[in-house]
Amino acid sequence: MSSGAFDVIVIGGGPGGYVAAIRAAQLGFKTAVVERDELGGICLNWGCIPTKALLRSAEVYHLMQHAADFGLSADKVGFDIQAIVQRSRKVSSRLTGGIGGLMKKHKITVIKGTATLKKGGDAPTVIVDKDTYTAKHVILATGARARTIPQAGLEPDGDKIWSYREAMVPDTMPKSLLVIGSGAIGIEFASFYNTMGADVTVVEMMDRVLPVEDEEISAFAAKSFKKQGLKLMVSAQVEKLEKTAKTVKVHVKDAKGKVEIVEVEKVIMAVGIAANIENLGLEALGVKIDRGHVVNDGFGRTNVKGLYAVGDVAGPPWLAHKASHEAVVCVEKIAGEKVHPFETSNIPGCTYCHPQIASVGLTEAKAKEAGHEVKVGRFPFVGNGKAIALGDDQGLVKTVFDAKTGELLGAHMVGSEVTELIQGYVIGRQLETTEAELMHTVFPHPTLSEMMHESVLDAYGRALHF
Ligand SMILES: Cc1cc2nc3c(=O)[nH]c(=O)nc-3n(C[C@H](O)[C@H](O)[C@H](O)COP(=O)(O)OP(=O)(O)OC[C@H]3O[C@@H](n4cnc5c(N)ncnc54)[C@H](O)[C@@H]3O)c2cc1C
Repeated sequence: MSSGAFDVIVIGGGPGGYVAAIRAAQLGFKTAVVERDELGGICLNWGCIPTKALLRSAEVYHLMQHAADFGLSADKVGFDIQAIVQRSRKVSSRLTGGIGGLMKKHKITVIKGTATLKKGGDAPTVIVDKDTYTAKHVILATGARARTIPQAGLEPDGDKIWSYREAMVPDTMPKSLLVIGSGAIGIEFASFYNTMGADVTVVEMMDRVLPVEDEEISAFAAKSFKKQGLKLMVSAQVEKLEKTAKTVKVHVKDAKGKVEIVEVEKVIMAVGIAANIENLGLEALGVKIDRGHVVNDGFGRTNVKGLYAVGDVAGPPWLAHKASHEAVVCVEKIAGEKVHPFETSNIPGCTYCHPQIASVGLTEAKAKEAGHEVKVGRFPFVGNGKAIALGDDQGLVKTVFDAKTGELLGAHMVGSEVTELIQGYVIGRQLETTEAELMHTVFPHPTLSEMMHESVLDAYGRALHF
């Protein structure tokens, strides 16, 4: 049965899908979005937003524990984990409700159900349950799910071995837990549980935590994490997970092959994600897949006529703002607007642990590898008045410039609120700024942003306050 014809049908209501739908509606397309679960996708329901709500509780708890440092008293500081989780779920549902409102405002049809595709006319036909929908353009934004490590013998079971879903809604506070993987998701959970008092171990296969970050930043963060009591096992691999009545015994092999058994109440698997490409009919359509994700051409177009892919399903970086931006580029191209192809070199990455991490562009090592002669600037938080006033004076702002042209190649930060600061450098890079323009920019005092200025000055031997 044919149930509707649209200009654009988007499959998936996450930050890739719902943004694609809104932009399509703004451009005058008759638009529908198909969602099998809740609008907002992983980001709003089980990712970005609820984790930040949890981390905010941890931050306030930490501050309350240190009330005396601010001349305050807060006796018997404690917490109720269920109330913390409830707040996080409320924050999430407030936002997902808002997406429903946006769909209505833009007159986007929301189709509830699981979509599959089959060969069609202008574009593949979309089947949802027994209903058939046609469109001139179909945008896949089906996202991704947690990856597991089957070779360790055990998969997440929702009880002792958690994926991010269970880690976000604990009933009780575990006394001990082990996080496998030290990317953004792993480190954010490690930071949350550690601050809330659990005994936390992080196992990382690479030789440092936060391995995609600049080496100096990840070393700075590692030192801070250790000071906070986190145990970091790097160049280490989880060989086996063994459940006992109350615990999990994690067999961790170090670089020399020595196996250590760490016994914990809970394990969180944070070893990356896998794109949702299965059961959609992509094989039959002959959609090109590479390393587990749908290949697109920088404008979202796949190799199949009328079919596009954006967001996590279209590959890294697996970030909400990447998904949304890629969606806008895709839809504007469909509308025949003049757009630049989507590219990933200027996408900021943020980790909301304590201390926070944020970066954009090339690390110092990657800049050198790419053949740049570099000038590097650094400014520590201890030299910044606002950081000291905030009682948060541990951090570093690092900038990497091309020595010949002065181009800002990359910026890397660790410390308080750097996830808010990084956007300044992102704009700079987008405008292809050089050191001279950044030096001539006036930064308000007293702010943490002054360190961004100082770091640039330092790259040229001109730092004023250090
Ligand atoms: C714990 C965690 C924390 C994170 N924190 C951050 C962060 O701080 N910042 C950041 O930028 N990113 C973060 N991310 C990543 C971010 O959530 C994703 O990059 C983002 O959600 C990707 O958006 P998307 O639209 O591509 O896919 P998704 O958000 O995954 O949405 C896909 C949607 O498609 C639906 N769907 C799938 N298949 C079908 C089908 N066949 N039919 C109908 N519907 C379907 C799904 O139900 C889902 O709602 C985090 C992720 C996790 C897991």
